[in-house]
Amino acid sequence: MADRQIVGPVSGTDVPRYSGPSTFARLPRVDQVETVDIAVIGAPFDTGVSYRPGARFGPTHIRQSSRLLRPYNPALDRAPFSVLQVADAGDMTINPFSIDAAVGEVQEQAASWTSRGTRLVTLGGDHTIALPLLRSVHAEHGPVAVLHFDAHLDTWDTYFGAPITHGTPFRRASEEGLLDREGSVHVGLRGSLYDKLDLADDARLGFQQLTSRQFAVERLDSMIDAMLVRLGDRPVYVSVDIDVLDPAHAPGTGTPEAGGLTSRELLELLRALDGRHVVGADVVEVAPAYDHAELTGVAASHVTYELLTVMAGTATDATHAGAPVSETPTDLS
Ligand code: MN
Ligand code: MN
Repeated sequence: MADRQIVGPVSGTDVPRYSGPSTFARLPRVDQVETVDIAVIGAPFDTGVSYRPGARFGPTHIRQSSRLLRPYNPALDRAPFSVLQVADAGDMTINPFSIDAAVGEVQEQAASWTSRGTRLVTLGGDHTIALPLLRSVHAEHGPVAVLHFDAHLDTWDTYFGAPITHGTPFRRASEEGLLDREGSVHVGLRGSLYDKLDLADDARLGFQQLTSRQFAVERLDSMIDAMLVRLGDRPVYVSVDIDVLDPAHAPGTGTPEAGGLTSRELLELLRALDGRHVVGADVVEVAPAYDHAELTGVAASHVTYELLTVMAGTATDATHAGAPVSETPTDLS
C-alpha cells in the first residue's frame, strides 16, 4: 500500500475546470486506477418517491456541480485525494420499474465494492437506496450508528401498501437490526407530521431527534456536541438527504420543507466527524429539475467533499489495502 501511486483529480491549471468529462471533483474513473479505497458511485433511482420525482438525475447533476472543487481542504487541513485513492465508479444499473428489483440491485452492486474493503459514498437517487446500502455496510461491520440528516423522519411504515419507499428506509433498517439503536440520530428534522405518535414511534426504532428548531435557539457547537455524544465511538454511516437544508439553500429536491439548516451549518456538522470511523455515506434526493443556478448541486457536491475529507482521515480497513479493480462492476458514465 505504501508504494502504490495515488491518482488524483485532473488539475484545473492543466485543463480548464469546465472542460472534459464529469467525474466527481474530476477524480479518475475506477478503470484508471489500480486500487480503490473510497469510491464515489451514483445510484440513479427515484421510483420510491412520494411527491416530486427527478432524483434519478441527481448523480449527473452533482458531478457536473463538483467541477470547482480543489484538492486541498483548509477546513480540515487535508488533501483527501492525496491520502487515499478516491475514484468515481460511475453509476449503478438500477431497474426503474420495480422497487424490489432495484433494492436488490443496489445491494448487490454496493456489496461488490464493500466486500473488498472499498468504502462507498453514494450519490442518489431517492432515499430508498439507504436501505440496501445499509445492508451492505452491515454485512461488513454489523450494526452501525446511523447519522441521518433530513427534514423528515423516514421511519414511516408504508405508503399505499408499499413497505419500501423513500419514506421508510430507516424503519426497515431498524427492524432488520442494521442500525445501532443506542447511537443513531436524526439531525435537522422539521415540518408537519401525520400524528404526534410518529415521533414516539421513531424513538422506539432507535433514533434521537435533533430538530431544526433547536438550531434556532441553541449554539451550533452545542448541537455538534449532542450529535457526537450520541454517536459515541461507534462506526458511523452518514446519510444526507439534501432537503435537510432550507429550500433557500437547496431548492432542487422532491419534498422541500421551510425552516431548514444552512449550508454552513451542515458543513460544520460534517467536519465535526473528523476522527470518527465513517464506514460509508450517501447524499440523496437531489432533483435538478427544481434547482436554480446549481444551488443544490453545489451544496451536495460540497457535502460530498467534506464527507470524503473526513473519511480520508481514517485509514481504510486494516485487513484491506483498497479493493483491486479486477473487474468493472458498474457502467461507467
Ligand atoms: Mn427528506
Ligand atoms: Mn429522506
